[in-house]
Amino acid sequence: MARRVGILGGTFDPPHLGHVAVGVESCFRLDLDATHMMVANNPWQKSSSRRIAPATSRWVMTEAACAGHPLLVADDAELARGGETYTIDTVEPLVAAGVEVFLILGDDAAARLDTWHRCEELADLVTVGIVARPAVTPARLARHWRATRIECPLLDISSTEVRRRCAAGEPVDHLVGPGVLSVIEAEGLYGFGR
Ligand code: ATP
Ligand code: MG
Repeated sequence: MARRVGILGGTFDPPHLGHVAVGVESCFRLDLDATHMMVANNPWQKSSSRRIAPATSRWVMTEAACAGHPLLVADDAELARGGETYTIDTVEPLVAAGVEVFLILGDDAAARLDTWHRCEELADLVTVGIVARPAVTPARLARHWRATRIECPLLDISSTEVRRRCAAGEPVDHLVGPGVLSVIEAEGLYGFGR
């Protein structure tokens, strides 16, 4: 039987408990073998607008975020490939190897799918699993996408808010896992402890 794998792509700057919830629920609800938290190397749609933490820091935090969650896998395939990150380049070899790929997205990301590189080819290769995000209107996908919605507890957490709190000296230990917090502290990321 083909392996069924979820790909939850992100900048993970930093990974937070919202990502963990989406990863675990997508795997469970869609009966996947695992959901991979795929760390973007150079998220081309984001990197022009703000400074992003080094890929090595985001990788170590993502490994820490997945630790202790048997349904989650931290995946460095896009970091290993280097360069700008296009999901189609990640998905093509998996599908060629017989893997059934589920692209897991929050509603904000899903609404932008048609701006992605080679999106029509991507639509032929994956099933999209969409998760609601607080205060985000449910995405309406164009007809070429095969899509399903995933029930998941709503967690009003974003990396943007975690970064803001770190810089402002506000607590984040309830928004990220302890391993992620250790890396933020040790590396002084996002202005933590300054
Ligand atoms: P930022 O604020 O920097 O954009 P983020 O919290 O949105 O960070 P990303 O790395 O941009 O995190 O998101 C990766 C994926 O996870 C996207 O598909 C996004 O929609 C989804 N996601 C992130 N946080 C949540 C959440 N709290 N609930 C549901 N989906 C989420
Ligand atoms: Mg985001």
